[in-house]
Amino acid sequence: MQTSVSRSTAIVNIVNRAPAGSSVNYAEASPETVFGANTFNLSVMKETLKPDTYQSLLKTIQEGAKLSPNVADEVAEAMRKWAISKGATHFAHVFYPLTGLTAEKHDSFYDPSVDGKSAISKFKGKTLIQGEPDASSFPSGGIRATHRARGYTAWDPTSPAYIIENPNGTTLCIPTSFISWTGEALDTKTPLLKSMQAVDKQARRILKLFGHEKIGRVTATAGPEQEYFLIDKGFYYARPDLLAASRTLFGAPPPKGQEFEDHYFGEIPDRVMAFMYEVDRELFKLGIPTKTRHNEVAPGQFEIAPLFESANLAADHQQIIMTTLKRVAQRHGLVALLHEKPFAGVNGSGKHVNWSLGNSTQGNLLDPGDTPHENAQFLVFCCAVIRAVHKFSPLLRAVVASAANDHRLGANEAPPAILSVYLGEQLTDVMEQIKAGGATTSKQKGTLVIGVDTLPELPRDAGDRNRTSPFAFTGNRFEFRAVGSSQTIARALIAMNTILADSLEYMAGRLEGGKDLNKAIQGLLKEILDEHGAIIFNGNGYSEEWHAEAARRGLPNLKTTADALPALTAPEIVEVFEKQGVLTKAELESRKEILAEQYEKHVNVEAKLVAEIAQTKIYPVAAAYAASLAEGIAGIKAAGAQTSTGTLEKVAALTAQLEGSIEELKQVHGAAHGLADWTFKVCPAMLKVRRIVDELEGLVPDDLWPLPTYQEMLFIK
Ligand code: ADP
Ligand code: MG
Repeated sequence: MQTSVSRSTAIVNIVNRAPAGSSVNYAEASPETVFGANTFNLSVMKETLKPDTYQSLLKTIQEGAKLSPNVADEVAEAMRKWAISKGATHFAHVFYPLTGLTAEKHDSFYDPSVDGKSAISKFKGKTLIQGEPDASSFPSGGIRATHRARGYTAWDPTSPAYIIENPNGTTLCIPTSFISWTGEALDTKTPLLKSMQAVDKQARRILKLFGHEKIGRVTATAGPEQEYFLIDKGFYYARPDLLAASRTLFGAPPPKGQEFEDHYFGEIPDRVMAFMYEVDRELFKLGIPTKTRHNEVAPGQFEIAPLFESANLAADHQQIIMTTLKRVAQRHGLVALLHEKPFAGVNGSGKHVNWSLGNSTQGNLLDPGDTPHENAQFLVFCCAVIRAVHKFSPLLRAVVASAANDHRLGANEAPPAILSVYLGEQLTDVMEQIKAGGATTSKQKGTLVIGVDTLPELPRDAGDRNRTSPFAFTGNRFEFRAVGSSQTIARALIAMNTILADSLEYMAGRLEGGKDLNKAIQGLLKEILDEHGAIIFNGNGYSEEWHAEAARRGLPNLKTTADALPALTAPEIVEVFEKQGVLTKAELESRKEILAEQYEKHVNVEAKLVAEIAQTKIYPVAAAYAASLAEGIAGIKAAGAQTSTGTLEKVAALTAQLEGSIEELKQVHGAAHGLADWTFKVCPAMLKVRRIVDELEGLVPDDLWPLPTYQEMLFIK
């Protein structure tokens, strides 16, 4: 029997690995000179465009004004020159199809000249504004009939174009929307932009009520925190499951897991630091303001978070962060795993989406102000969020649903599948008082007064952090923690903006035209809290009691993607999306279909991998070991000595069970039809095979085991 060569070679290679040389030197090029160097940002535009053109483009970017064709031509020309000065030979319209990933099609700037002797570089406004990728192989969920299998990409001037570098050249990347010729959105950017428009419109109505004279465009903001794992490339390539399914489908828990809690915020290993420096530098070049980096809870797990930006920009940048993590990891002999649950038994990875809204005139609208007046305004926005989350919680669950995220949600390390809002003790106390007929005192200050016009001072920074809540108020923003580490944040943001716009519209409608605003607010907030206060929960979201309590409160617990997806086309959800002008019924239906399809595809690949690995890698090793034990025992007995057959019996029994479970898996897999089958039949059948394999891992001699172990992957760097 051969020993597992790939495993031991991987370890030898890591031990002998020469550290990656330095690739970043901020003493030579300071972060200031690096930041945004590869983006066609406002300052480059100002430098390279005629003043009129610049002003008109600025109006488009900041206020959403229509772009004139002349402006586009001049911008295209400036962009071309700038890109070529950066070594670009190609440009690409980058778009965000419904796979949740990023797509790009590259075209050269160059055309041959008429005499065929040289190449001329050209880039017209028309080409900047609109592209036509071959869209037929992107998922459209039935929207695009094949005879119209075309879509086009449209430049989004609010997200700066940027240069992507490769050792052999550079490409100008232009963020775009992706739309079918019949006008339906085939991407995540288009509805995100529409949802931002909706929230702007309704938020301004509320601000107007408060008597503000100048009201700037209100922007939804987002700051995503990305968790990920890093493992050595050698282990990655020795694990077909990681390679093809991005998660381990087998693996016994290591003797040491995360129980010492010694990894969170712990010292970052040199090799990982070198990687992080390079990631930050690459992101700086693209004007992505990464801010924090640290170890996460699980061994081998890390986090990167940029400063918040406009939701649209944050979503585009988030996609770049994910690809940059993967790309730079490779350069360091590592692989960045963005899957929500690459390893069973240790924490999974999420992407907390910090979210708020604000403008240049009133600032952050979810920041409790200093004056009672500002507080009243804050409470209106805060209660709008509470109403939205309570009313549409199944939608929020649906937009984070995926095969991968199902492993994480509700697994006592991530928020449960039950949506609730954490407000903190002090704010909850204020809400309780409003419900009781008027906020009179603030818990902390113990002074305050009657009515909305003299509301208590509110917490500036909610000190206590409840990590178990899926939707937490954290002082001046909400943090949606159920988003998965590999997901686009756009889906969550579209939903949050849309349902918030709905609440604000409802509230503005109720408050406008009244005589006594304060009294009206007081009444409305009480009404909203009476009706929707059940969503507020400050306790431990992982506890059994909460599950029971949530059921009593009538809060849905949608455990799987199969349970969650129907929400996407529930009548009240279609209504809110159509009313806010964000997505149509057909678009929602297509999105649901695509998510279901993706779920099936993922589980399909996993099921095939489980059967194949179990059959061709594990079974032979287990069966051979059983045979060699039997031979040994027979030999010992023949020699007249005593021996026990305990291990043999265990291994032989498990080997037989393994064969049976593989067969069973193949059967349910072959017969699977529809989301419920994949979820409730195929997934459990895979798990059954895994349990047997993981048990065998503890019995078979280590040097025969064909797969790198959890211990090796998580601890050897
Ligand atoms: P923690 O881990 O303590 O939750 P981090 O510092 O890792 O916090 O991340 C907090 C994120 O919240 C950052 O991306 C930050 O920029 C973002 N954030 C702060 N203010 C806002 C806001 N008004 N809107 C959206 N995101 C915000
Ligand atoms: Mg954090």
